[in-house]
Amino acid sequence: MKIANQKVTAERLVRDALEKAKHFADYNIFTFLNEEAALKKAREIDSRIKKGEKVGRLAGVPYALKDNFLSPEGETTASAHILGGFNSPITATAVAKLEAEDAIMIGRTNLDAFAHGSSTENSYYGPTLNAHDKKRVAGGSSGGSAVAVALDIVEFATGTDTGGSIRQPASFNGVYGLKPTYGCISRYGVVAMASSTDCIGFFAKTPEDMDLLMSITSGQDTKDMTTLPDYYNNDSGEPTNPSKRHSRIGIIKDFDNDSVAPEIREALKSKIELLKSKGHEIVELEMPALKYALAAYYIIVPAEVASNLSRYDGVRYGFRSEISSHLDELYDHTRSEGFMPENKRRIMIGNFVLSSGFYDAYFLKAAKARTLIIQEYEKAFSKCDFLLTPVSPSPAFKLGEKVNDPVAMYLEDVMSVSLNLAGVPGLAIPAGETKSGLPIGLQLVGPRRSDKTLIEFSRELI
Ligand code: GLN
Repeated sequence: MKIANQKVTAERLVRDALEKAKHFADYNIFTFLNEEAALKKAREIDSRIKKGEKVGRLAGVPYALKDNFLSPEGETTASAHILGGFNSPITATAVAKLEAEDAIMIGRTNLDAFAHGSSTENSYYGPTLNAHDKKRVAGGSSGGSAVAVALDIVEFATGTDTGGSIRQPASFNGVYGLKPTYGCISRYGVVAMASSTDCIGFFAKTPEDMDLLMSITSGQDTKDMTTLPDYYNNDSGEPTNPSKRHSRIGIIKDFDNDSVAPEIREALKSKIELLKSKGHEIVELEMPALKYALAAYYIIVPAEVASNLSRYDGVRYGFRSEISSHLDELYDHTRSEGFMPENKRRIMIGNFVLSSGFYDAYFLKAAKARTLIIQEYEKAFSKCDFLLTPVSPSPAFKLGEKVNDPVAMYLEDVMSVSLNLAGVPGLAIPAGETKSGLPIGLQLVGPRRSDKTLIEFSRELI
């Protein structure tokens, strides 16, 4: 990535990024442009460079921030009406770490409201368009961030991945997207969706950039008790099995069927051949427990969503309905007007599966299925070092195609959610394109804490 130095000023980099952001305004990528503050910061960095002072590893690098990361610059809305007007008094840990290395946030990006969705069509601010075909979706929920990187507006963008929201839009737009191991990067200051599966990650153009971003942001945070000690910077990045120069790559047989678009299966086959030609071993695996992943996810996640969204009541954050005469009405009207239909659907499902009559039948069963999925991954990684799978069953679909069919939209996530339930890392990598020019992505999956080797190994697939 281009970093400011004696030859290229931070101000130039930031001005270019802002110009491009405006040039591509019709893609609806940004919910806020951080012009003034970004340019001010750029000039400060330039003057430090001029004086020969030390600057950070991301000096002057323009980046885009998914609008569910809290920071005082601009409103943090999570693309939901109910957070309209909310100015955060705090800064997310991940943002603070990027800014400490002198990265410059040029804008906040559009998402499905509260990150509920797979197309960015659930945003209060309207959909983001795909970088390669304006009639198609950007993917979601981090659609704005993916397109900002794919159109080369910024060098990298942040994302959150609760069930695929980084990997799927990355693959729909032809960039790298990493969902790290659960607990690798602090979630402090990021709008919570489902706390047991939420992960902070990035969109980038190369494995090298991804590695740099990970080494800057990973590590334990006293403000997020689920963070792990910093294994990322203490890991060598060598193959998990150093006695062998070659890795064993698992292919999941269950995913090779008619529900996956032929062009995606072709792309997988050609990458398998590439890996074989480099001397890696291909291991065919059956992972039958993964068939429960989508059903378990759409019980566990709404349950956590219902709980996390209960704090938005019109009293403390953002939007408040004007038409209330007493407190119950205030809650009622604020939540009715402020949430998007998909948010409400999840609140209803979540409260239902947690209610006393149905807890055992739904939530408890889903929790048991989750354990089976965790064990399935452990078993798989005793037979191979990494898995290579599709990210989603099809390339980017048309705008409006699934918006009125929630189940069709949920099926988009069939290959991505099991990683979040198991807490394992997944890296979406660009893997060619369809005949009509739509990007195809594949995901490399590794055991927990293998993030560094995963990024390192992705170079084998270029
Ligand atoms: N598409 C998935 C969902 O709607 C994943 C969302 C996410 O990862 N934030 O739940």
